[in-house]
Amino acid sequence: MSEVNPEVISDRISNICANISNIRANIPTNVKLVAVSKYTTTASIRAAYDAGVRDFGESRVQESKIKQEELADRSDITWHMIGSLQSNKTRQAIAQFDWIHSIDRLSLAQQCDRLISELGKSPKLLLQVKLADDPHKSGWSESELLTDLPELEKLQNLDIVGLMTILPLGLDESQAYAVFSRVGDLAEKLRSLGWKNIHELSMGMSADYAIAVKAGASIIRVGTQIFVA
Ligand SMILES: *Cc1c(COP(=O)(O)O)cnc(C)c1O
Repeated sequence: MSEVNPEVISDRISNICANISNIRANIPTNVKLVAVSKYTTTASIRAAYDAGVRDFGESRVQESKIKQEELADRSDITWHMIGSLQSNKTRQAIAQFDWIHSIDRLSLAQQCDRLISELGKSPKLLLQVKLADDPHKSGWSESELLTDLPELEKLQNLDIVGLMTILPLGLDESQAYAVFSRVGDLAEKLRSLGWKNIHELSMGMSADYAIAVKAGASIIRVGTQIFVA
């Protein structure tokens, strides 16, 4: 293995700190910043931790397990699963994560309900919705979610606390704002239908978190803008 220049490492760490400060300066303090660490190393995660970040997002169950084990000494980290979940990874995801943002179908919700009662561990869950057409992303449309609500209501073990969305590529700022706002409207509609705990809105990534916050995001998921910029 080639030696890594210590100056390069300390530059990277100071970049990470500066990036986090910049983002924090741009968002209200009550918005939760999830640092998406899926492409980065444990050393960079430690740098973000030292800059005050306690919420980290990962998209692959197995890869994240290695990082979580390496960071076991940072026991106050909250781990967020943000990637789409195959059913054969659900058990591990429930065991490893404090939040799962990517509950994107009824069958997955039903499987979580069974596993949560079996494992005795109940992560906070977000329902992933897709309010603009996007063949590349999963999630409920509004009408699909409303159709599935009676079945979801039967799943008494689930701690569903909000909605998550990922925008399709290529929207301009006003289109992005409109889609994010519709997610907030949908959450309000769900509350009016009796889903009183649907308060969290996980929306906004590096390219669009400022718009998401304007539209009411309570959680933003930022990777590139922290670890690569
Ligand atoms: C990778 C990823 C992010 C972070 O994206 P950046 O553009 O790197 O900020 C946020 N949310 C989800 C679901 C992701 O997969």
